[in-house]
Amino acid sequence: GSTIGILGGGQLGRMLSVAASRLGFTTHIYEPGANPPAGHVADRVTTADYDDIAALERFAASVDVITYEFENIPTAALDALEAHRSIRPGRESLRVSQDRLTEKDFLSGLGLRVAPYNNVETVNDLKRALETVGTPSILKTRRFGYDGKGQSRITSADQADQAFSDIGGAPSVLEGFVDFTHEVSVIAARSAAGDIACFDPGENVHKDGILATTTVPARLSHAQRTDAVLMAAKILNELNYVGVMGVELFVTSQGLIVNEIAPRVHNSGHWTQQGCNVDQFEQHIRAVAGWPLGDGARYADVVMENLIGDDMDRVPDIALEPHASLHLYGKAEVKPGRKMGHVNRVIATKK
Ligand code: ATP
Ligand code: MG
Ligand code: MG
Repeated sequence: GSTIGILGGGQLGRMLSVAASRLGFTTHIYEPGANPPAGHVADRVTTADYDDIAALERFAASVDVITYEFENIPTAALDALEAHRSIRPGRESLRVSQDRLTEKDFLSGLGLRVAPYNNVETVNDLKRALETVGTPSILKTRRFGYDGKGQSRITSADQADQAFSDIGGAPSVLEGFVDFTHEVSVIAARSAAGDIACFDPGENVHKDGILATTTVPARLSHAQRTDAVLMAAKILNELNYVGVMGVELFVTSQGLIVNEIAPRVHNSGHWTQQGCNVDQFEQHIRAVAGWPLGDGARYADVVMENLIGDDMDRVPDIALEPHASLHLYGKAEVKPGRKMGHVNRVIATKK
């Protein structure tokens, strides 16, 4: 059988490994950190840094195709890997999504609506940006932000100095605050043959900048649901994308606004494990392996709840709940804000 190489050994890499194994693939994880969650389920793990070109080349030579669970892989590492094997999704999706500015330019260039935004490299840029974008607004670092980290909310222009120092003076974008009624995401997949399948959009609730729950079905009109899926398809087609992508959207009275995209399986797609015959992890592995996409139609209503930090104390109770499916990541240490697992509660079965 063939071997799938996965860059990153976190929970996403772990669940990708499980899905790959179930389809008869072997998996090889590349992860700098010790004792990664994916290490317990993968066939093989390489523990090495992303600047270790020799280790990257050995890894590439040992696999048939390379995918990843996070978008911040250094360019030099990608060059070394791609000299030997293809990387799916491709380099263009990484280039676009590694930098919020590039991503916003790309999305608005496609004619999709995004929040008003401005590039910020100095505190004076920020002051000028506040004149056009206005307040309330959010200053976000262009690179490496996740779970709401590297963000500072601005409610009046006199907070510019404070906000810029809060984010460490890094290159950033100032984004107008979107007056949304709720947030949804589309988990979309595109095969190597160019077929597209989208999972039913989920409705997301964040707490302290971190995803807390995803509920399907989302509150969307028929027209909004169609819009959401067409927007996602446009993005994937433009990137000639192969794999699963998460597209985060704000629902407003004026329509859907794209917040951000993630070129990988996505936390807000975990509900698919109990809501569909083929979940996002299998769909991604299928695409990456050159298989046709599977049946991702939703057959149940599901609420996914993330188990973060001390939420782990509730696991003994959750384990007794009917209709609850637990997914724990095997992380040794509980830390505040750390994603330890999730639970999918199946609410009803569709007729
Ligand atoms: P993720 O873990 O999803 O990658 P992130 O750190 O990249 O998170 P964002 O998705 O940009 O952060 O923002 C986190 C949350 O903050 C959003 O889901 C939304 O609730 C809120 N938010 C972000 N940008 C805006 C905005 N322009 N207007 C209103 N709310 C926003
Ligand atoms: Mg993000
Ligand atoms: Mg986000």
